[in-house]
Amino acid sequence: MKNELQKFLRAIPSMETLLSLPWVESLTLELGREAVKALFNEALLELRRDARDGKVPLDGDPAKAIEDRARRRISQRAKSSLARLVNATGVVIHTNLGRSPLPPEAIEALTHLSGGYSSLEYSLESGTRGQRNAHVEWLIRQVTGAEAAIVTNNNAGAVLLALSALARGREVVVSSGELVEIGGSFRIPDILAFSGAKMVQVGCTNCTHLRDYRDAIGEETAILLKVHPSNYRIQGFTESVSREDISALARERGVICMEDMGSGLIESLGRSDLGGEPTVRECLAAGVDIVTFSGDKLLGGPQIGCIAGSAALIDRIRGHQLLRALRVDKMTLAAFEVILRMYLKGQSDRIPVVAMIRRSEDELRERAEALSQKLRALLDELSVSSYDVGITETDDAVGGGSFPARSIAGWGVVVTSRAGIGATKLSARLRETGTPIIAGVREDKLVLHVRTLLDGEDEAVLGAFREIFG
Ligand SMILES: *Cc1c(COP(=O)(O)O)cnc(C)c1O
Repeated sequence: MKNELQKFLRAIPSMETLLSLPWVESLTLELGREAVKALFNEALLELRRDARDGKVPLDGDPAKAIEDRARRRISQRAKSSLARLVNATGVVIHTNLGRSPLPPEAIEALTHLSGGYSSLEYSLESGTRGQRNAHVEWLIRQVTGAEAAIVTNNNAGAVLLALSALARGREVVVSSGELVEIGGSFRIPDILAFSGAKMVQVGCTNCTHLRDYRDAIGEETAILLKVHPSNYRIQGFTESVSREDISALARERGVICMEDMGSGLIESLGRSDLGGEPTVRECLAAGVDIVTFSGDKLLGGPQIGCIAGSAALIDRIRGHQLLRALRVDKMTLAAFEVILRMYLKGQSDRIPVVAMIRRSEDELRERAEALSQKLRALLDELSVSSYDVGITETDDAVGGGSFPARSIAGWGVVVTSRAGIGATKLSARLRETGTPIIAGVREDKLVLHVRTLLDGEDEAVLGAFREIFG
């Protein structure tokens, strides 16, 4: 056994030989010789270890073993890691899949702007230093009714900045039912602690009353904070206090009323099944002094955080050092300006996530039918007969923490295997194609939800099937 192992290890080709393998040349052009060598070394270490641990058959070909392992590693690294893909899950604001896709006009603006110098912090009028926030502040005011606004790199940053600037060393009153965690890394109690504010928790998990807030207000109170319980719902015997009541109490006692809205709905989605989510304008009109929200959730823009509301409070935030660390880059601002102008012009239908949420069942059914016909024709053409292709009703979701526990009715293409690979395996194969397709799996059937397919992505789906079965 020991001899066999030594024989195997000795027969692994030298680095020199490996680097001169024919397939290595093109990958060296992609990665450079040093990186390729490092990846070969990783593969060599792994193979030697596996051979010693008895995980490799010692009567196999060592040259082939190292080549297989190294080739997988090196090819993987030569591909772009951040990949464009097709979201066929029916979850419109999918945080793992990059949330909001941008419309062509926004992409054009950020491409044009970032390819050269820009007026990012320059006033063309005076020829002196300008403000990066100024490019979008007026527009945010127009579409939300806020007196003033400031932007950060995301909403977590917006909440942190607002609390740091307005409540550091003082108390923030928040309902126990709203101490939420979002996406594992954003927790209200932690953000509060990090900002230097003291959290004063009121009420119980299911019920908080106005008197709870009233009793908690003292000398040290800076803010009454309301948080959108983003990704969950408490059902049954529940009570929370309306923003109208909280803000009236805050005004009466001379403290700030702040709401972390999360989603940043700008205008109604026009669906009777999606009521209850206030727009930013409604929130401010209800008396909330400042609100924070994301740019890439229901608003449908790039990753950004917004603080909007009272001019006096925004001015206090504007001067805070933390803003420098959370500032927005020029590509994001360029795209965000375009999106805000779409709302201003009444063109919200051109914003992909808004349009996707608004798609009617009839429209989705037609799309699913058309795609299923094309897919059936393709599989016929490729003489693949082991799958049934049809259409099905689906439960889609808005996602991004908006409208938790509520699905919206959609349609999809359902692929059922009779003798081919099963749905889980097929979905894994679809993730490995040139343009990966992320599909749903339901009762061992593959489901392609059409709500989240962008224009032209039917072709990408067909291309992926052609790649797998062609
Ligand atoms: C999503 C969300 C956040 C975090 O926003 P990011 O833009 O992802 O940083 C914070 N609060 C609420 C209520 C949210 O829904």
